[in-house]
Amino acid sequence: MTEKLRPCPFCGGEAKIQLTDYEGNFKDESYLENPYSGVGYVIMHDTSNSTDGCPIATDSDSSQGSYIYASKEAAINAWNGRTEDDLTNYISKIMNIFYGSFINHNKELILIPKTNLYFYLGDVNTVDEVKYKLLEWCSRSCFKAMPYRYTKKNREYQDDVLRKVNECLDMEFTREQMELIYTKLGNCINHELTMKFVSSGYDMKLLEEENAKHKY
Ligand SMILES: [Zn+2]
Repeated sequence: MTEKLRPCPFCGGEAKIQLTDYEGNFKDESYLENPYSGVGYVIMHDTSNSTDGCPIATDSDSSQGSYIYASKEAAINAWNGRTEDDLTNYISKIMNIFYGSFINHNKELILIPKTNLYFYLGDVNTVDEVKYKLLEWCSRSCFKAMPYRYTKKNREYQDDVLRKVNECLDMEFTREQMELIYTKLGNCINHELTMKFVSSGYDMKLLEEENAKHKY
């Protein structure tokens, strides 16, 4: 996971992560001991950290835009993951992890040619959109796919896909968690929830809540 915010694309100045409550009111670290009105994170890039010519710098008590992220990681990813370079780099990272993968003439990223595990890249513009695809189209193979005749081989295949998907996402999801991900997000069944899940920094509670909602 990227730990640091990249420089401002306009002025090269520094951006910062600011702790807030769920309404976006600025808080200091001691607030975390008793976060009575929720926790959020916003990105700050104020005039003290930018040049005069920066078109996006704010006052020292304002954040960038109105979006409040549920985790530091989500805020960092949103700020850092914005260029086409990032997208190209991310796709080559995935292709290195899925050794032997390729992109065909239909803009499909064939991750595992032998079992035809793939997703469509033609409508992808950001790194997060690739992550949505991994969750929506590869989660099933992490615990359920049975491309082989023997149970043992299928299990090995599932473990292998799980390990690789985890590496692509910088996560350590278990089979059980992947099953919940597939149930709630698989086959693009609830794309809005997939987006929320990624921007939350993969908060499993979002999916568990969704589970509880539909149980009765
Ligand atoms: Zn700037």
